[in-house]
Amino acid sequence: MENTRCFANRFSDYRGALLPGQSVKVIAPTVVATVDKILKNVPIDFSDCDGGLYDGPAGVAYMLYHVSECPLFFQHREVYLKTAKQMIDLSVRYVDAEPDINMRAAFLLGGAGIYAVAAMIYKSMGLADFVKPLTKFRNLWEVCAPINFLECGSDELFVGRAGYLCAALVLRQKLGIEILSKDQIKSICQAIIESGKQYSRRKRKPFPLMYSYYGTEYLGAAHGLSSVLQMLLSYQDMLSSAEKDLVWQSIDFLMNQEQNCNWPAELGAIIERENELVHWCHGAPGVAYLFAKAYLINKRPQYLDTCIRSGELVWQKGLLKKGPGICHGVAGSAYVFLLLYRLTGNSKYIYRAQRFAEFLFTEEFKTGSHSVSSVFSLFEGLSGTVCFLVDLLQPDQAEFPLFSVFVCTLWPL
Ligand SMILES: [Zn+2]
Repeated sequence: MENTRCFANRFSDYRGALLPGQSVKVIAPTVVATVDKILKNVPIDFSDCDGGLYDGPAGVAYMLYHVSECPLFFQHREVYLKTAKQMIDLSVRYVDAEPDINMRAAFLLGGAGIYAVAAMIYKSMGLADFVKPLTKFRNLWEVCAPINFLECGSDELFVGRAGYLCAALVLRQKLGIEILSKDQIKSICQAIIESGKQYSRRKRKPFPLMYSYYGTEYLGAAHGLSSVLQMLLSYQDMLSSAEKDLVWQSIDFLMNQEQNCNWPAELGAIIERENELVHWCHGAPGVAYLFAKAYLINKRPQYLDTCIRSGELVWQKGLLKKGPGICHGVAGSAYVFLLLYRLTGNSKYIYRAQRFAEFLFTEEFKTGSHSVSSVFSLFEGLSGTVCFLVDLLQPDQAEFPLFSVFVCTLWPL
């Protein structure tokens, strides 16, 4: 039976040539036109600032920053950055007034992500003021250090500690300076590990580290084990050898949860083929980044093979009907090919990403996909698509937005 969540992929696979119709000449004007469309339609008002980077104006601001960093869009740089600053300033004011201090420490849904992107935009504009949002970001360290700082689950990517570490990693990469002290990083990593050990013990799990979010034991990138482990791996220099062992054991445990190139959304679930989730948020397209990071660190071929298998599944089932975005849409699928291109250097993956880009502009996609609530946002909508199209033009530097794998993790810088 056919999977109801995706369009059938009728494209022929790579035969040694990239698609001439997907050149800079074609894609760059598409990027500019899509940005125009987003800016004409996205609501920018104080009352619309909810949603953080995920589906608020802050995510649109990040997209504008990302485009403006690409030399191909140099002539738009000034306008894009100016607009990005307006959006992020409004978002900063919004989150400064957020009464729930814990939401201020959230990466994709709250303040930490907004402050981080504000610092990037300011720095890119040459404003010394970038230190202000950066200081606000740094001060959130204390908020997320206590082991159970959130009742719903303190460790995942969107609102928890893994998210805070992820934001710090991206900031370090983009700003080229140390963001947190070694001791601060160590204490957050230790809280994540202790929290995972406690949960595993309490729930009698047969493996070393496990977490839950609102009571569900997610495995994928969005709220699950894979992105938590990915962040611990990104900071592995800060871990003791016993802690490292726990992380690597957990990675291998997660690797063994694979069911036909995919991972269930939650621990222990059985994947139904015709209804499986092949999303960045839930499933192989998000879990792949953990194994990519693992492969980059220790070069064990099984981690790369796992990524490659994920890519095969995405080629078959990644033309998703849930919109053009990166969380559970076509652009999120296509980012797996750009990841595989960077891991292997194989042009086949650029070709596949080009095909997915092509599909985004077909009648079949427009008429057959479900509507999403935030059409212009970074994670669900067109802002994520724009990031992908820009990265397709510079595949040697492509990275899933705000989810760096190819970042230097040696300390100090
Ligand atoms: Zn999603």
